[in-house]
Amino acid sequence: MQTKPDHRLDWVRSAPFFLVHAVALAGVFWLGWSWSGLLLALGLYAVRMFGVTGAYHRYFSHRSYKTSRPFQLLLALLAMTSVQKGVLWWAAHHRHHHRTSDQPGDTHSVLQDGFWWSHVAWILAPMNHDTDFDKVKDLAKFPELRWLDRYYYVPAIALAVGLYFAGGIWALYWGFFVSTTLLWHGTFTINSLTHVFGSKRYVTSDNSRNNLWLAIITLGEGWHNNHHYYQRSTNQGFFWWEVDVTFYVLKALSWVGLVWDLHTPPPHVRDSNRVTDAAAVAAPAAAPVAVPASLTPAPSLVSLSSNPR
Ligand SMILES: [Zn+2]
Ligand SMILES: [Zn+2]
Repeated sequence: MQTKPDHRLDWVRSAPFFLVHAVALAGVFWLGWSWSGLLLALGLYAVRMFGVTGAYHRYFSHRSYKTSRPFQLLLALLAMTSVQKGVLWWAAHHRHHHRTSDQPGDTHSVLQDGFWWSHVAWILAPMNHDTDFDKVKDLAKFPELRWLDRYYYVPAIALAVGLYFAGGIWALYWGFFVSTTLLWHGTFTINSLTHVFGSKRYVTSDNSRNNLWLAIITLGEGWHNNHHYYQRSTNQGFFWWEVDVTFYVLKALSWVGLVWDLHTPPPHVRDSNRVTDAAAVAAPAAAPVAVPASLTPAPSLVSLSSNPR
């Protein structure tokens, strides 16, 4: 019999996480409202969200494009100003999510463990504190990335201190505390909401969805069903109308030679394995709901999950 994982939270170690929220919520009563402050918060939200999506996710977790070692380090530093730990930690947990999507053992499945766990609690639980280096051997060979994984708070503290010296308490409050709180929850929606709300274009073995609103606030990550279907693609919006700001930025970086070998889905992959195809074949037979083997995505195209939904 499978033992239930230990979902207890480490409230003491999680104190800085709650403190940042408390300062973000209470600070406005002390400093007063500021439209330019909100602009600073949203500007740093956008830049750091690119770090989350373009670096943590599409580069370090999925290696969907290539870059040089110095720019790889810059990407890691940018991503880690989002205060989401080291790139090795992030990539290891994310790769585990794809291997077990929406099955028991998934790092943050809303279907298995509910909204609270998938949105935020999984980060605060001791069972997820450590980095599984076996899952990120390709990244762990770089000593600078291992160092950053160990001292993950350095880039975030550097940003906070820099803001303080550039613009005092005002800049620290809006640029770090407010911006970081928004950025955290913007990022977390991908785990908690994109496996529930939206449409499903492709047959995948999980409940991933495509959602325009989440694609807007996460610079393109809302096309989550596309992503679970074909993970190695740099673009997650597969069609021109699927807004994917992260990909536009990466494309621009490729024009100046900072990144290269951006991978996009071949047309035959993009146009096959549609949910509608599966429904059309399954309907006339009135058989138990099952995806015909011929319509099941090739293993290389989907997560390694074996629990069809
Ligand atoms: Zn992914
Ligand atoms: Zn997912």
